[in-house]
Amino acid sequence: MKYVSEFRNETLSRGLIARIRTSSRTSSRLMEFCGGHTNTIFRYGIRQLLPGTVNMVSGPGCPVCVTAPSDLDRAIAAAGIPDVILTTFGDMMRVPGSYTSLQEEKAAGADVRVVYSPVDALTTAMENPDKSVIFLGIGFETTAPTVAASILEAEEKGIDNYFVLSLHKICPPVIRALLDSGEIVLNGLVCPGHVSAVTGSGIWEFIASEYGIPCVVTGFEPPDVLRAISMLVAQIERGEAKVENAYSRGVRSDGNPLALDMMERVFREDDAEWRGIGAVKNSGLVFRKAFERFDAEKVFEIPSKPPLERKGCLCGEILRGVKMPGDCPLFGRACTPASPVGPCMVSSEGTCSAYYRYGESDAG
Ligand code: SF4
Repeated sequence: MKYVSEFRNETLSRGLIARIRTSSRTSSRLMEFCGGHTNTIFRYGIRQLLPGTVNMVSGPGCPVCVTAPSDLDRAIAAAGIPDVILTTFGDMMRVPGSYTSLQEEKAAGADVRVVYSPVDALTTAMENPDKSVIFLGIGFETTAPTVAASILEAEEKGIDNYFVLSLHKICPPVIRALLDSGEIVLNGLVCPGHVSAVTGSGIWEFIASEYGIPCVVTGFEPPDVLRAISMLVAQIERGEAKVENAYSRGVRSDGNPLALDMMERVFREDDAEWRGIGAVKNSGLVFRKAFERFDAEKVFEIPSKPPLERKGCLCGEILRGVKMPGDCPLFGRACTPASPVGPCMVSSEGTCSAYYRYGESDAG
C-alpha cells in the first residue's frame, strides 16, 4: 500500500462496519482521546454508522482546548512585553482569554506571528537579533520533541534571543485523573497514534492492567478509526483488556527513541493545570535546570491577572467527557466558529467545532 487513497478503501470500511455491527452485543462507551480522531469521526459520519450499542465520547486530547485559562491569559500577556515577538501555532490566535485574545492583541499592535513549527520560530529569532522571540509551546508528546529540538539547536548555534513558554502536557496522567474521578465510565479507549508514535504503545498499558479497560492505538484515516472500534468491541465481547496496535505503520512498541531522548534532555515532568480538569500531577513539561535560560517563564516578568469564568461555556465538562456540545446553551447561538466563546469551538481538534462543522444532528 503506497497511497492514502488506497487505504480509504470503501470495501475495507464497509467490512469493518459490518464486523462492528454483528459483533457488538454489549452496550459500550468508548472514548476517543484525541481531537484528531474526533475530527475524523465527525467528518466521515462514523458515529452514524455505528450500532446503537456503541457510544463514542470525545476526550481531552485537544491541546489548545485543555490549555488552562490562567496559562492562556499569561500567553496572551506575553505578547505585550516590549520588544517581544510572540510566535504561535495558528489555532491559538482566536482562542478567547479572560480579557482578550492573541488576535485582538495583534490588531492592537502587538507583534504576534503564526508559525508552522518551532523551527520557524527559531528562524524568526535568528532574523530578528534585536528582539526576543517567544514560542508558545502548546501540545502533547507529539509536539514536545520538536520544541526540544529547537532548543537544542538554539543552544548549539548560541542563539540567545529564543525562548519557549512551555505549556506542554503529557497524556497518561490526565487519563488516570479522569478515570480516578469516577465521573465517567469507559469500556474502551481509542488511543492517539501520533502520541504513541513518539512514546510507544506501552504508555497505555496501565489503563488495561489497572483499570481493565481495553485500548487500541490507531491512526487518523476512517478505516484506522473503524478498525480500532472493531478491535475494542471484540475485546469487550471476549471480556479482555489489553493494548493493541492498529497503527503498526506508524507506531512501534518502543516509540521513537531519538524524539524521546530530545524531549527528556530538555524537559522534565511537573504538575500542570488543565482546563476543566484542574491540576494533574506530573502531567506537564517544564525546563530542566540546564536549559532554563530558554524558559520564557523564568526570563520574563509575564503579567498575570486572575482568570475570569466564561459564563455558560461547558468546555470543561466536554473535555471530561461528561457533557456534549448540544448540552451547552451557547452552542450554535452565541458560540459559533465565527464568534467562539470557548476553545472547543476554535480549534480544528475541538469537539464543539467538529459538531458544528459537520452538522451533528444529535448534538445533545
Ligand atoms: Fe464552550 Fe462554545 Fe462549546 Fe459551549 S459551544 S462549550 S461555549 S466552546
